[in-house]
Amino acid sequence: MIETPAPSNFLDTIVREDLESGRVSEVVTRFPPEPNGYLHIGHAKSISVNFGLAERFGGRCNLRFDDTNPLKESQEYIESIQEDVRWLGYQWHGEVKYASSYFGQLYEWARQLVREGKAYVCDLSAEETREYRGTLTEPGRNSPYRDRSVEENLALLEGMKNGEFDEGSRVLRAKIDMASPNMNMRDPTLYRIRKVSHHQTGDDWCIYPTYDFAHGQEDAIEGVSHSVCTLEFEDHRPLYDWLIENLPVPSRPRQYEFGRLNPSYTVTSKRKLKQLVDEGVVSGWDDPRMPTVSGMRRRGFTPASIRRFCDMIGTTRSDGIVDVAMLEHAIRDDLNENAPRAMCVVNPLRVVLANYPEDQVEMLSAGSHPSREDLGQRQLPFARELLIDREDFREEANKKYKRLVLGKRVRLRNAHVIEAVDVERDDQGEVSAVLCEVVSDTLGKDPADGIKPKGVIHWVSAAHGIPVELRLYNRLFQVEAPDRGEEDFHQYLTPDSLRVTTDAVAEPGLAAAEPEQSFQFEREGYFVADRFDHSTEKPVFNKTIGLRDTWQRQGS
Ligand code: ATP
Ligand code: MG
Repeated sequence: MIETPAPSNFLDTIVREDLESGRVSEVVTRFPPEPNGYLHIGHAKSISVNFGLAERFGGRCNLRFDDTNPLKESQEYIESIQEDVRWLGYQWHGEVKYASSYFGQLYEWARQLVREGKAYVCDLSAEETREYRGTLTEPGRNSPYRDRSVEENLALLEGMKNGEFDEGSRVLRAKIDMASPNMNMRDPTLYRIRKVSHHQTGDDWCIYPTYDFAHGQEDAIEGVSHSVCTLEFEDHRPLYDWLIENLPVPSRPRQYEFGRLNPSYTVTSKRKLKQLVDEGVVSGWDDPRMPTVSGMRRRGFTPASIRRFCDMIGTTRSDGIVDVAMLEHAIRDDLNENAPRAMCVVNPLRVVLANYPEDQVEMLSAGSHPSREDLGQRQLPFARELLIDREDFREEANKKYKRLVLGKRVRLRNAHVIEAVDVERDDQGEVSAVLCEVVSDTLGKDPADGIKPKGVIHWVSAAHGIPVELRLYNRLFQVEAPDRGEEDFHQYLTPDSLRVTTDAVAEPGLAAAEPEQSFQFEREGYFVADRFDHSTEKPVFNKTIGLRDTWQRQGS
Protein backbone atom coordinates (compact mmCIF):
# COMPACT_ATOMS: atom_id res chain seq x y z
CA MET A 1 0.00 0.00 0.00
CA ILE A 2 1.32 3.44 -0.86
CA GLU A 3 1.68 5.91 1.93
CA THR A 4 -0.21 9.10 1.42
CA PRO A 5 1.58 12.01 3.00
CA ALA A 6 -0.75 14.40 4.76
CA PRO A 7 -1.53 16.52 1.73
CA SER A 8 0.16 19.81 2.17
CA ASN A 9 0.05 22.31 -0.64
CA PHE A 10 0.34 26.01 -1.33
CA LEU A 11 -3.24 26.52 -0.17
CA ASP A 12 -2.42 25.04 3.23
CA THR A 13 0.40 27.54 3.54
CA ILE A 14 -1.93 30.44 2.71
CA VAL A 15 -4.59 29.25 5.12
CA ARG A 16 -2.10 28.69 7.92
CA GLU A 17 -0.70 32.19 7.47
CA ASP A 18 -4.19 33.71 7.38
CA LEU A 19 -5.05 31.99 10.64
CA GLU A 20 -1.79 32.99 12.27
CA SER A 21 -2.04 36.62 11.19
CA GLY A 22 -5.64 36.76 12.30
CA ARG A 23 -6.98 37.70 8.86
CA VAL A 24 -9.47 34.91 9.32
CA SER A 25 -10.63 33.23 12.50
CA GLU A 26 -12.29 30.24 10.88
CA VAL A 27 -11.66 28.44 7.63
CA VAL A 28 -14.79 28.34 5.52
CA THR A 29 -14.68 26.86 2.02
CA ARG A 30 -17.33 25.78 -0.44
CA PHE A 31 -17.75 23.42 -3.33
CA PRO A 32 -19.84 25.32 -5.89
CA PRO A 33 -20.99 23.09 -8.75
CA GLU A 34 -23.31 24.34 -11.40
CA PRO A 35 -26.10 21.72 -11.60
CA ASN A 36 -25.74 21.28 -15.35
CA GLY A 37 -24.26 17.78 -15.39
CA TYR A 38 -22.93 14.98 -13.24
CA LEU A 39 -19.74 15.39 -11.26
CA HIS A 40 -16.55 14.09 -12.83
CA ILE A 41 -13.07 13.25 -11.57
CA GLY A 42 -12.05 16.92 -11.84
CA HIS A 43 -14.86 17.85 -9.49
CA ALA A 44 -13.75 15.08 -7.14
CA LYS A 45 -10.40 16.87 -7.00
CA SER A 46 -12.10 20.18 -6.24
CA ILE A 47 -14.20 18.48 -3.56
CA SER A 48 -11.12 16.93 -2.01
CA VAL A 49 -9.34 20.31 -2.03
CA ASN A 50 -12.22 22.28 -0.53
CA PHE A 51 -13.46 19.74 2.00
CA GLY A 52 -9.87 18.75 2.75
CA LEU A 53 -8.84 22.31 3.68
CA ALA A 54 -11.83 22.70 5.97
CA GLU A 55 -11.13 19.32 7.56
CA ARG A 56 -7.44 19.93 8.15
CA PHE A 57 -8.00 23.34 9.69
CA GLY A 58 -11.08 22.53 11.74
CA GLY A 59 -13.32 24.67 9.55
CA ARG A 60 -16.39 24.00 7.46
CA CYS A 61 -17.23 23.49 3.83
CA ASN A 62 -20.52 24.35 2.17
CA LEU A 63 -22.11 22.68 -0.79
CA ARG A 64 -23.53 25.47 -2.90
CA PHE A 65 -25.27 25.06 -6.20
CA ASP A 66 -24.20 27.83 -8.51
CA ASP A 67 -27.56 27.84 -10.21
CA THR A 68 -27.51 31.09 -12.11
CA ASN A 69 -28.15 29.65 -15.57
CA PRO A 70 -31.49 27.81 -15.41
CA LEU A 71 -31.48 26.91 -19.07
CA LYS A 72 -28.98 24.09 -18.63
CA GLU A 73 -29.72 23.07 -15.07
CA SER A 74 -32.00 20.47 -13.57
CA GLN A 75 -33.15 18.78 -10.40
CA GLU A 76 -31.70 15.47 -11.61
CA TYR A 77 -28.24 17.02 -11.50
CA ILE A 78 -28.86 18.56 -8.09
CA GLU A 79 -29.69 15.15 -6.69
CA SER A 80 -26.87 13.26 -8.37
CA ILE A 81 -24.32 15.81 -7.17
CA GLN A 82 -25.41 15.47 -3.55
CA GLU A 83 -25.34 11.71 -3.79
CA ASP A 84 -21.85 11.75 -5.30
CA VAL A 85 -20.41 14.12 -2.69
CA ARG A 86 -21.79 11.93 0.09
CA TRP A 87 -20.58 8.78 -1.58
CA LEU A 88 -17.08 10.24 -1.76
CA GLY A 89 -17.31 10.45 2.02
CA TYR A 90 -17.86 14.15 2.61
CA GLN A 91 -20.56 15.94 4.52
CA TRP A 92 -21.19 19.59 3.85
CA HIS A 93 -21.92 22.04 6.58
CA GLY A 94 -25.62 22.58 7.32
CA GLU A 95 -28.20 22.68 4.59
CA VAL A 96 -27.38 22.60 0.91
CA LYS A 97 -27.04 26.17 -0.35
CA TYR A 98 -28.25 27.67 -3.59
CA ALA A 99 -27.04 30.78 -5.37
CA SER A 100 -30.69 31.26 -6.30
CA SER A 101 -31.68 31.82 -2.70
CA TYR A 102 -29.59 34.99 -2.79
CA PHE A 103 -31.23 36.41 -5.91
CA GLY A 104 -33.17 38.99 -3.87
CA GLN A 105 -30.04 40.21 -2.13
CA LEU A 106 -28.04 40.27 -5.36
CA TYR A 107 -30.73 42.36 -7.01
CA GLU A 108 -30.60 44.83 -4.14
CA TRP A 109 -26.86 45.06 -4.50
CA ALA A 110 -27.20 45.63 -8.21
CA ARG A 111 -29.53 48.56 -7.47
CA GLN A 112 -26.99 49.90 -5.04
CA LEU A 113 -24.28 49.87 -7.71
CA VAL A 114 -26.66 51.71 -10.01
CA ARG A 115 -27.45 54.29 -7.35
CA GLU A 116 -23.75 54.91 -6.85
CA GLY A 117 -23.18 55.31 -10.56
CA LYS A 118 -21.21 52.05 -10.73
CA ALA A 119 -23.54 50.12 -13.01
CA TYR A 120 -25.76 50.92 -15.98
CA VAL A 121 -28.28 49.35 -18.29
CA CYS A 122 -26.82 48.86 -21.76
CA ASP A 123 -28.85 48.36 -24.93
CA LEU A 124 -26.06 47.26 -27.24
CA SER A 125 -26.69 43.99 -29.02
CA ALA A 126 -24.40 41.06 -28.25
CA GLU A 127 -22.51 41.70 -31.45
CA GLU A 128 -22.11 45.43 -30.79
CA THR A 129 -20.99 44.70 -27.26
CA ARG A 130 -18.26 42.43 -28.60
CA GLU A 131 -17.19 45.12 -31.03
CA TYR A 132 -17.08 47.81 -28.35
CA ARG A 133 -15.13 45.58 -25.99
CA GLY A 134 -11.93 45.83 -28.03
CA THR A 135 -9.28 43.15 -28.09
CA LEU A 136 -6.31 42.07 -26.03
CA THR A 137 -4.20 44.60 -27.90
CA GLU A 138 -6.78 47.37 -28.34
CA PRO A 139 -8.74 49.17 -25.67
CA GLY A 140 -12.51 49.02 -25.79
CA ARG A 141 -14.87 51.96 -26.36
CA ASN A 142 -17.47 53.24 -23.96
CA SER A 143 -21.00 52.15 -24.66
CA PRO A 144 -23.25 55.02 -25.77
CA TYR A 145 -25.54 54.02 -22.86
CA ARG A 146 -22.83 54.36 -20.27
CA ASP A 147 -23.86 57.78 -19.06
CA ARG A 148 -27.53 57.20 -18.47
CA SER A 149 -28.80 58.87 -15.33
CA VAL A 150 -29.21 56.94 -12.13
CA GLU A 151 -32.99 57.39 -12.33
CA GLU A 152 -33.18 56.05 -15.87
CA ASN A 153 -30.96 53.09 -14.99
CA LEU A 154 -33.02 52.24 -11.92
CA ALA A 155 -36.20 52.37 -13.95
CA LEU A 156 -34.76 50.25 -16.75
CA LEU A 157 -33.35 47.69 -14.32
CA GLU A 158 -36.76 47.41 -12.73
CA GLY A 159 -38.29 47.05 -16.18
CA MET A 160 -35.87 44.24 -16.92
CA LYS A 161 -36.83 42.54 -13.69
CA ASN A 162 -40.53 42.95 -14.45
CA GLY A 163 -40.23 41.29 -17.81
CA GLU A 164 -40.87 44.43 -19.85
CA PHE A 165 -38.03 43.83 -22.29
CA ASP A 166 -37.07 41.07 -24.64
CA GLU A 167 -34.26 38.62 -23.98
CA GLY A 168 -31.00 39.99 -25.31
CA SER A 169 -32.31 43.54 -25.66
CA ARG A 170 -30.65 44.91 -22.53
CA VAL A 171 -28.15 43.91 -19.84
CA LEU A 172 -26.91 45.47 -16.63
CA ARG A 173 -23.19 46.20 -16.73
CA ALA A 174 -20.68 47.34 -14.15
CA LYS A 175 -19.08 50.68 -14.98
CA ILE A 176 -15.39 49.99 -14.51
CA ASP A 177 -12.87 50.66 -17.26
CA MET A 178 -13.21 50.00 -20.99
CA ALA A 179 -9.46 50.47 -21.41
CA SER A 180 -8.41 47.98 -18.77
CA PRO A 181 -5.81 45.49 -19.98
CA ASN A 182 -7.98 42.86 -18.27
CA MET A 183 -10.96 42.20 -20.52
CA ASN A 184 -13.03 41.11 -17.52
CA MET A 185 -12.88 44.68 -16.21
CA ARG A 186 -14.26 46.24 -19.39
CA ASP A 187 -17.73 46.91 -18.04
CA PRO A 188 -18.65 43.25 -17.44
CA THR A 189 -22.25 42.08 -17.60
CA LEU A 190 -23.92 41.64 -14.22
CA TYR A 191 -27.47 40.69 -15.20
CA ARG A 192 -29.13 39.34 -18.30
CA ILE A 193 -32.72 38.77 -19.28
CA ARG A 194 -33.67 35.08 -19.52
CA LYS A 195 -37.35 34.34 -19.74
CA VAL A 196 -37.09 30.80 -18.47
CA SER A 197 -38.38 29.10 -15.36
CA HIS A 198 -35.84 28.21 -12.74
CA HIS A 199 -35.77 24.83 -10.99
CA GLN A 200 -35.68 26.55 -7.58
CA THR A 201 -37.33 29.93 -8.02
CA GLY A 202 -39.88 29.07 -10.68
CA ASP A 203 -41.03 32.20 -12.52
CA ASP A 204 -40.02 34.66 -9.82
CA TRP A 205 -37.21 35.99 -11.96
CA CYS A 206 -36.65 36.70 -15.60
CA ILE A 207 -33.26 38.30 -15.07
CA TYR A 208 -30.37 36.21 -13.83
CA PRO A 209 -26.99 37.30 -12.44
CA THR A 210 -23.81 36.29 -14.24
CA TYR A 211 -21.27 34.01 -12.61
CA ASP A 212 -19.06 37.02 -11.90
CA PHE A 213 -21.76 39.04 -10.21
CA ALA A 214 -23.02 36.09 -8.20
CA HIS A 215 -20.01 34.12 -7.07
CA GLY A 216 -18.04 36.42 -4.79
CA GLN A 217 -21.17 37.88 -3.26
CA GLU A 218 -22.46 34.38 -2.48
CA ASP A 219 -19.10 33.64 -0.86
CA ALA A 220 -19.40 36.81 1.21
CA ILE A 221 -22.95 36.00 2.33
CA GLU A 222 -21.83 32.55 3.47
CA GLY A 223 -18.74 33.86 5.24
CA VAL A 224 -16.43 31.89 2.96
CA SER A 225 -12.86 32.73 3.89
CA HIS A 226 -11.04 31.02 1.03
CA SER A 227 -12.85 30.75 -2.28
CA VAL A 228 -10.86 28.12 -4.13
CA CYS A 229 -11.43 27.68 -7.84
CA THR A 230 -9.51 26.64 -10.93
CA LEU A 231 -6.98 28.66 -12.89
CA GLU A 232 -9.31 29.83 -15.63
CA PHE A 233 -10.79 32.23 -13.08
CA GLU A 234 -7.48 33.88 -12.31
CA ASP A 235 -8.26 36.76 -14.68
CA HIS A 236 -11.64 37.18 -13.01
CA ARG A 237 -10.07 37.81 -9.62
CA PRO A 238 -9.74 41.61 -10.08
CA LEU A 239 -13.46 41.74 -10.81
CA TYR A 240 -14.20 39.46 -7.85
CA ASP A 241 -12.27 41.89 -5.64
CA TRP A 242 -13.82 45.00 -7.25
CA LEU A 243 -17.33 43.79 -6.48
CA ILE A 244 -16.44 42.83 -2.91
CA GLU A 245 -14.91 46.29 -2.40
CA ASN A 246 -17.80 48.15 -3.93
CA LEU A 247 -20.65 46.38 -2.19
CA PRO A 248 -21.71 46.36 1.46
CA VAL A 249 -21.08 42.61 1.74
CA PRO A 250 -21.00 41.03 5.20
CA SER A 251 -17.53 39.49 4.85
CA ARG A 252 -14.43 39.69 2.67
CA PRO A 253 -13.68 36.40 0.98
CA ARG A 254 -10.61 35.97 -1.19
CA GLN A 255 -10.25 33.88 -4.30
CA TYR A 256 -7.39 31.42 -4.86
CA GLU A 257 -6.80 29.33 -7.94
CA PHE A 258 -5.25 25.93 -8.58
CA GLY A 259 -4.66 23.90 -11.75
CA ARG A 260 -7.47 21.84 -13.21
CA LEU A 261 -7.09 18.09 -13.13
CA ASN A 262 -6.93 16.60 -16.62
CA PRO A 263 -6.36 12.85 -16.56
CA SER A 264 -4.96 11.36 -19.75
CA TYR A 265 -7.18 9.36 -22.12
CA THR A 266 -10.33 11.17 -21.11
CA VAL A 267 -12.28 14.39 -21.39
CA THR A 268 -13.44 16.30 -18.32
CA SER A 269 -15.77 18.88 -19.66
CA LYS A 270 -19.40 18.52 -18.68
CA ARG A 271 -20.42 19.81 -22.09
CA LYS A 272 -18.49 17.06 -23.88
CA LEU A 273 -19.54 14.38 -21.42
CA LYS A 274 -23.15 15.42 -21.92
CA GLN A 275 -22.63 15.12 -25.65
CA LEU A 276 -21.45 11.51 -25.22
CA VAL A 277 -24.59 10.80 -23.18
CA ASP A 278 -26.98 12.57 -25.55
CA GLU A 279 -25.49 10.91 -28.61
CA GLY A 280 -25.72 7.46 -27.03
CA VAL A 281 -21.97 6.88 -27.28
CA VAL A 282 -22.28 5.71 -23.67
CA SER A 283 -25.32 4.38 -21.85
CA GLY A 284 -25.63 7.36 -19.51
CA TRP A 285 -23.75 9.65 -17.15
CA ASP A 286 -23.04 6.60 -14.99
CA ASP A 287 -21.73 4.40 -17.79
CA PRO A 288 -18.69 2.66 -16.25
CA ARG A 289 -16.48 4.12 -18.98
CA MET A 290 -17.29 7.68 -18.00
CA PRO A 291 -14.90 9.72 -15.84
CA THR A 292 -17.91 10.79 -13.81
CA VAL A 293 -18.07 9.98 -10.11
CA SER A 294 -21.16 7.83 -10.71
CA GLY A 295 -19.50 6.12 -13.70
CA MET A 296 -16.41 5.35 -11.69
CA ARG A 297 -18.56 4.10 -8.86
CA ARG A 298 -20.34 1.73 -11.19
CA ARG A 299 -17.00 0.67 -12.62
CA GLY A 300 -15.93 -0.45 -9.15
CA PHE A 301 -13.83 2.47 -7.95
CA THR A 302 -14.07 3.03 -4.22
CA PRO A 303 -14.38 6.43 -2.53
CA ALA A 304 -11.07 5.75 -0.77
CA SER A 305 -9.27 5.14 -4.06
CA ILE A 306 -10.56 8.37 -5.59
CA ARG A 307 -9.63 10.37 -2.53
CA ARG A 308 -6.21 8.76 -2.47
CA PHE A 309 -5.67 9.64 -6.11
CA CYS A 310 -6.62 13.26 -5.42
CA ASP A 311 -4.02 13.38 -2.66
CA MET A 312 -1.35 11.65 -4.75
CA ILE A 313 -1.50 14.16 -7.59
CA GLY A 314 -1.12 17.15 -5.28
CA THR A 315 -2.55 20.61 -5.71
CA THR A 316 -0.53 22.98 -7.82
CA ARG A 317 -0.87 26.04 -9.97
CA SER A 318 -0.26 24.27 -13.26
CA ASP A 319 -2.72 22.71 -15.68
CA GLY A 320 -0.87 19.58 -16.75
CA ILE A 321 -2.20 16.21 -17.85
CA VAL A 322 -2.08 13.59 -15.12
CA ASP A 323 -1.30 9.99 -16.09
CA VAL A 324 -4.54 8.06 -15.72
CA ALA A 325 -2.39 5.06 -14.71
CA MET A 326 -2.05 6.80 -11.34
CA LEU A 327 -5.79 6.61 -10.86
CA GLU A 328 -5.74 2.98 -11.91
CA HIS A 329 -2.91 2.38 -9.49
CA ALA A 330 -4.96 3.84 -6.65
CA ILE A 331 -7.92 1.54 -7.22
CA ARG A 332 -5.78 -1.52 -7.84
CA ASP A 333 -3.93 -0.91 -4.63
CA ASP A 334 -7.16 -0.59 -2.67
CA LEU A 335 -8.73 -3.70 -4.19
CA ASN A 336 -5.59 -5.76 -3.85
CA GLU A 337 -5.82 -5.16 -0.15
CA ASN A 338 -9.57 -5.36 0.31
CA ALA A 339 -11.22 -7.41 -2.42
CA PRO A 340 -11.92 -11.09 -1.73
CA ARG A 341 -10.55 -13.50 -4.31
CA ALA A 342 -12.75 -15.62 -6.51
CA MET A 343 -12.40 -17.76 -9.60
CA CYS A 344 -14.18 -17.00 -12.83
CA VAL A 345 -13.46 -18.63 -16.18
CA VAL A 346 -13.97 -16.08 -18.92
CA ASN A 347 -13.71 -18.31 -21.98
CA PRO A 348 -14.46 -21.85 -20.81
CA LEU A 349 -12.93 -25.06 -22.07
CA ARG A 350 -14.12 -28.39 -20.61
CA VAL A 351 -11.72 -30.54 -18.66
CA VAL A 352 -12.74 -34.12 -17.90
CA LEU A 353 -10.86 -35.91 -15.16
CA ALA A 354 -10.82 -39.48 -16.44
CA ASN A 355 -9.67 -41.00 -13.15
CA TYR A 356 -12.08 -39.07 -10.94
CA PRO A 357 -15.31 -40.81 -9.86
CA GLU A 358 -18.32 -39.58 -11.80
CA ASP A 359 -20.57 -38.76 -8.86
CA GLN A 360 -17.96 -37.54 -6.45
CA VAL A 361 -17.92 -33.93 -5.26
CA GLU A 362 -15.23 -32.69 -2.91
CA MET A 363 -15.76 -29.47 -1.01
CA LEU A 364 -12.44 -27.69 -0.99
CA SER A 365 -11.91 -24.76 1.28
CA ALA A 366 -9.85 -21.75 0.23
CA GLY A 367 -8.96 -18.47 1.88
CA SER A 368 -10.80 -15.49 0.44
CA HIS A 369 -7.65 -13.40 0.59
CA PRO A 370 -3.96 -14.31 0.75
CA SER A 371 -3.21 -12.04 3.72
CA ARG A 372 -6.58 -11.08 5.16
CA GLU A 373 -7.83 -13.90 7.34
CA ASP A 374 -10.71 -11.70 8.42
CA LEU A 375 -12.20 -12.11 4.96
CA GLY A 376 -12.80 -15.78 5.76
CA GLN A 377 -12.94 -18.92 3.67
CA ARG A 378 -14.93 -19.99 0.69
CA GLN A 379 -16.10 -23.43 -0.44
CA LEU A 380 -15.13 -24.68 -3.87
CA PRO A 381 -16.88 -27.81 -5.16
CA PHE A 382 -14.48 -30.00 -7.14
CA ALA A 383 -15.84 -32.66 -9.48
CA ARG A 384 -15.04 -34.77 -12.51
CA GLU A 385 -15.93 -32.11 -15.07
CA LEU A 386 -14.27 -28.75 -14.76
CA LEU A 387 -13.95 -25.59 -16.82
CA ILE A 388 -10.68 -23.81 -17.42
CA ASP A 389 -9.91 -20.86 -19.64
CA ARG A 390 -9.18 -21.65 -23.28
CA GLU A 391 -6.06 -19.53 -23.00
CA ASP A 392 -4.76 -21.83 -20.31
CA PHE A 393 -4.42 -24.90 -22.51
CA ARG A 394 -2.19 -25.69 -25.46
CA GLU A 395 -1.52 -28.94 -27.18
CA GLU A 396 2.11 -27.94 -27.52
CA ALA A 397 4.08 -25.11 -26.02
CA ASN A 398 7.56 -24.01 -25.14
CA LYS A 399 8.87 -23.73 -21.59
CA LYS A 400 7.70 -20.17 -21.14
CA TYR A 401 4.10 -21.29 -21.22
CA LYS A 402 3.38 -22.22 -17.62
CA ARG A 403 -0.13 -23.53 -17.98
CA LEU A 404 -1.71 -26.80 -19.07
CA VAL A 405 -0.03 -28.58 -22.00
CA LEU A 406 -0.80 -31.99 -23.40
CA GLY A 407 1.31 -34.56 -21.58
CA LYS A 408 2.21 -32.06 -18.84
CA ARG A 409 0.99 -31.06 -15.41
CA VAL A 410 -0.52 -27.95 -13.93
CA ARG A 411 -1.88 -27.08 -10.51
CA LEU A 412 -5.49 -26.11 -10.26
CA ARG A 413 -5.65 -23.13 -7.97
CA ASN A 414 -6.67 -24.11 -4.43
CA ALA A 415 -7.01 -27.73 -5.60
CA HIS A 416 -5.23 -30.77 -7.10
CA VAL A 417 -2.52 -31.15 -9.69
CA ILE A 418 -3.76 -32.56 -12.99
CA GLU A 419 -2.06 -33.91 -16.06
CA ALA A 420 -3.42 -33.58 -19.61
CA VAL A 421 -3.56 -36.88 -21.46
CA ASP A 422 -5.72 -36.34 -24.54
CA VAL A 423 -8.13 -33.96 -26.27
CA GLU A 424 -11.60 -34.22 -27.79
CA ARG A 425 -12.42 -32.22 -30.90
CA ASP A 426 -15.57 -30.83 -32.40
CA ASP A 427 -16.62 -31.08 -36.07
CA GLN A 428 -14.35 -28.17 -36.97
CA GLY A 429 -11.40 -29.90 -35.40
CA GLU A 430 -11.27 -27.45 -32.51
CA VAL A 431 -10.44 -28.78 -29.09
CA SER A 432 -13.73 -29.16 -27.24
CA ALA A 433 -12.44 -30.87 -24.11
CA VAL A 434 -9.18 -31.87 -22.49
CA LEU A 435 -8.99 -35.29 -20.91
CA CYS A 436 -6.89 -35.20 -17.78
CA GLU A 437 -5.95 -37.23 -14.79
CA VAL A 438 -5.81 -36.05 -11.23
CA VAL A 439 -2.37 -36.70 -9.77
CA SER A 440 -3.05 -38.41 -6.47
CA ASP A 441 -2.35 -36.82 -3.11
CA THR A 442 -1.51 -33.34 -4.40
CA LEU A 443 -3.88 -31.23 -2.35
CA GLY A 444 -1.54 -28.63 -0.88
CA LYS A 445 1.44 -30.86 -1.74
CA ASP A 446 3.76 -31.48 -4.63
CA PRO A 447 3.38 -34.81 -6.43
CA ALA A 448 5.17 -37.68 -4.71
CA ASP A 449 6.93 -38.69 -7.96
CA GLY A 450 8.83 -35.40 -7.96
CA ILE A 451 7.37 -34.15 -11.27
CA LYS A 452 6.21 -30.68 -10.24
CA PRO A 453 3.61 -28.69 -12.12
CA LYS A 454 5.00 -25.63 -13.89
CA GLY A 455 2.13 -23.28 -13.19
CA VAL A 456 -1.20 -22.63 -11.51
CA ILE A 457 -4.45 -22.01 -13.35
CA HIS A 458 -7.95 -21.19 -12.18
CA TRP A 459 -10.98 -23.40 -12.74
CA VAL A 460 -14.63 -23.91 -11.89
CA SER A 461 -16.69 -27.08 -11.52
CA ALA A 462 -18.82 -27.40 -14.67
CA ALA A 463 -21.83 -28.63 -12.74
CA HIS A 464 -21.61 -26.11 -9.92
CA GLY A 465 -20.28 -22.99 -11.61
CA ILE A 466 -22.73 -20.18 -12.28
CA PRO A 467 -22.99 -18.41 -15.62
CA VAL A 468 -22.17 -14.73 -15.30
CA GLU A 469 -22.26 -11.79 -17.65
CA LEU A 470 -18.99 -9.89 -17.81
CA ARG A 471 -18.71 -6.34 -19.09
CA LEU A 472 -15.16 -5.71 -20.16
CA TYR A 473 -14.06 -2.13 -20.63
CA ASN A 474 -11.35 -0.37 -22.48
CA ARG A 475 -10.42 3.29 -22.17
CA LEU A 476 -13.05 5.42 -23.84
CA PHE A 477 -10.40 7.31 -25.81
CA GLN A 478 -7.36 6.00 -27.61
CA VAL A 479 -5.15 9.05 -27.26
CA GLU A 480 -3.73 10.85 -24.27
CA ALA A 481 -5.33 14.21 -24.88
CA PRO A 482 -8.48 13.68 -26.93
CA ASP A 483 -9.75 17.24 -26.65
CA ARG A 484 -6.60 19.30 -26.67
CA GLY A 485 -6.07 19.44 -30.40
CA GLU A 486 -7.99 21.01 -33.26
CA GLU A 487 -9.82 17.84 -34.21
CA ASP A 488 -13.17 16.71 -32.94
CA PHE A 489 -12.64 14.48 -29.91
CA HIS A 490 -15.11 11.91 -31.28
CA GLN A 491 -12.56 10.62 -33.75
CA TYR A 492 -10.42 9.34 -30.90
CA LEU A 493 -13.12 7.17 -29.33
CA THR A 494 -12.00 3.58 -28.84
CA PRO A 495 -14.22 1.48 -31.12
CA ASP A 496 -14.58 -1.51 -28.79
CA SER A 497 -14.50 0.18 -25.41
CA LEU A 498 -17.21 -2.18 -24.15
CA ARG A 499 -17.22 -5.91 -24.77
CA VAL A 500 -19.88 -8.08 -23.17
CA THR A 501 -19.53 -11.82 -22.73
CA THR A 502 -22.10 -14.20 -21.36
CA ASP A 503 -19.87 -17.25 -21.73
CA ALA A 504 -18.11 -16.80 -18.42
CA VAL A 505 -18.67 -19.18 -15.51
CA ALA A 506 -17.81 -18.34 -11.91
CA GLU A 507 -17.44 -20.21 -8.66
CA PRO A 508 -20.88 -20.76 -7.08
CA GLY A 509 -20.32 -18.51 -4.09
CA LEU A 510 -20.53 -15.48 -6.36
CA ALA A 511 -24.27 -15.92 -6.64
CA ALA A 512 -24.41 -14.37 -3.20
CA ALA A 513 -22.46 -11.26 -4.25
CA GLU A 514 -24.19 -8.00 -3.42
CA PRO A 515 -24.42 -5.24 -6.01
CA GLU A 516 -21.30 -3.07 -5.81
CA GLN A 517 -19.27 -5.80 -4.13
CA SER A 518 -15.77 -6.11 -5.58
CA PHE A 519 -13.67 -9.22 -6.16
CA GLN A 520 -10.37 -10.13 -7.61
CA PHE A 521 -11.12 -12.78 -10.19
CA GLU A 522 -7.84 -14.59 -9.85
CA ARG A 523 -5.50 -14.13 -12.81
CA GLU A 524 -8.17 -12.02 -14.60
CA GLY A 525 -8.51 -8.73 -12.81
CA TYR A 526 -10.77 -6.84 -10.45
CA PHE A 527 -14.50 -7.00 -11.01
CA VAL A 528 -17.51 -5.47 -9.32
CA ALA A 529 -21.10 -6.72 -9.23
CA ASP A 530 -23.04 -4.16 -11.25
CA ARG A 531 -24.82 -1.65 -9.08
CA PHE A 532 -28.07 -1.85 -11.04
CA ASP A 533 -28.15 -4.98 -13.20
CA HIS A 534 -26.61 -7.63 -10.97
CA SER A 535 -28.79 -10.14 -9.13
CA THR A 536 -28.43 -13.67 -7.79
CA GLU A 537 -30.56 -14.91 -10.67
CA LYS A 538 -28.57 -12.99 -13.27
CA PRO A 539 -25.10 -12.10 -12.04
CA VAL A 540 -23.43 -9.23 -13.91
CA PHE A 541 -19.88 -8.10 -13.21
CA ASN A 542 -18.03 -5.06 -14.53
CA LYS A 543 -14.30 -5.24 -15.00
CA THR A 544 -12.84 -2.48 -12.89
CA ILE A 545 -9.21 -2.87 -13.84
CA GLY A 546 -6.67 -5.53 -14.81
CA LEU A 547 -4.07 -6.90 -12.45
CA ARG A 548 -0.98 -5.42 -14.00
CA ASP A 549 0.09 -2.03 -12.75
CA THR A 550 1.36 0.28 -15.48
CA TRP A 551 2.08 3.29 -13.33
CA GLN A 552 5.80 3.87 -13.03
CA ARG A 553 6.68 5.54 -9.82
CA GLN A 554 9.33 8.14 -10.28
CA GLY A 555 12.80 6.85 -9.63
CA SER A 556 11.82 3.19 -9.85
P1 ATP B 1 -16.82 21.73 -16.67
O1 ATP B 1 -15.74 22.43 -17.43
O2 ATP B 1 -16.66 20.26 -16.63
O3 ATP B 1 -18.19 22.15 -17.05
P2 ATP B 1 -17.03 23.54 -14.56
O4 ATP B 1 -15.86 24.24 -14.01
O5 ATP B 1 -17.87 24.34 -15.44
O6 ATP B 1 -16.59 22.20 -15.19
P3 ATP B 1 -18.54 23.64 -12.17
O7 ATP B 1 -19.79 22.93 -11.84
O8 ATP B 1 -18.59 25.11 -12.37
O9 ATP B 1 -17.95 22.94 -13.45
O10 ATP B 1 -17.40 23.27 -11.15
C1 ATP B 1 -17.52 23.26 -9.76
C2 ATP B 1 -16.15 23.39 -9.18
O11 ATP B 1 -15.34 22.32 -9.62
C3 ATP B 1 -15.49 24.66 -9.63
O12 ATP B 1 -14.88 25.28 -8.53
C4 ATP B 1 -14.47 24.20 -10.64
O13 ATP B 1 -13.36 25.04 -10.65
C5 ATP B 1 -14.13 22.80 -10.14
N1 ATP B 1 -13.67 21.96 -11.25
C6 ATP B 1 -14.32 21.68 -12.39
N2 ATP B 1 -13.56 20.92 -13.20
C7 ATP B 1 -12.39 20.70 -12.55
C8 ATP B 1 -11.18 19.99 -12.86
N3 ATP B 1 -11.04 19.34 -14.02
N4 ATP B 1 -10.19 19.98 -11.94
C9 ATP B 1 -10.34 20.62 -10.76
N5 ATP B 1 -11.44 21.31 -10.41
C10 ATP B 1 -12.46 21.35 -11.28
MG1 MG C 1 -18.14 26.36 -14.30
